[in-house]
Amino acid sequence: MSASIRVLAVHTHPDDIEFQCAGTLALLREQGCHVTMATMSPGDCGSAEHDAESISEIRRAEARAAAELISADYLCLEFRDLAIFSDDESRRRVTEILRRVRPDIVLTAPPVDYLCDHEATSLLVRDACFSAPIPNYVTRQWEPAPHLEKIPHLYYVDPIGGVDRDGRLQVPGFHVDVSRVFELKREMLACHASQRNWLLRQHGIDEYLDSQFKWSTHRGTEIGVTHAEGFRQYLGHPYPHDNLLLSLLGQDGRGKASTG
Ligand SMILES: [Zn+2]
Repeated sequence: MSASIRVLAVHTHPDDIEFQCAGTLALLREQGCHVTMATMSPGDCGSAEHDAESISEIRRAEARAAAELISADYLCLEFRDLAIFSDDESRRRVTEILRRVRPDIVLTAPPVDYLCDHEATSLLVRDACFSAPIPNYVTRQWEPAPHLEKIPHLYYVDPIGGVDRDGRLQVPGFHVDVSRVFELKREMLACHASQRNWLLRQHGIDEYLDSQFKWSTHRGTEIGVTHAEGFRQYLGHPYPHDNLLLSLLGQDGRGKASTG
């Protein structure tokens, strides 16, 4: 059954997925799911040494290399950094991507996060999941794909650091134990070499991989495993309420195998 399940992870920048949900994607691939990793932008502002066009090219290639490690597809929606807004044209563009990828499960940015682009991504993807099955909603894109059959299962990944803009803890709805695939998740993040250099210069931080390790260890400790990722399922009225993600993984969301 899993072989026919399609998963779309769509976050803002190249590397956000690798930080927040790449372990879960690796596990879903093991279950035979088809996985697409998408970024809203190519991360065109993420460099102090390259111009926007050059760093975009570098980062698309890094994101594609990371996706290839789990045999996932990669695509970029080609918004630009600090210019992602929930407006009419943008919602139609995100809806078109949903119709082309045709996911059963969507993982995206959380509604509350430290960065405006992350929050706008979350809002756009949430609303595009609603729009995608509506026959009369046209995307105005070239060669538009047919509407979806139904609203996909929607999940939010953790905000950066697990906190909102005021530093208040955001508690995940459930955890996924990713201990077994953590090394692969680490290799995926390591594909983003340009960002390790950028963070070092911009923030004086040389702990790109280390911060991923610390965060997944933190989430793991909460459920008594080595490494975990946190998620919250969006349960707005017409969206699916059964937890398809955990069923596919055979986990109970608290670090144990599911019994059902
Ligand atoms: Zn980001």
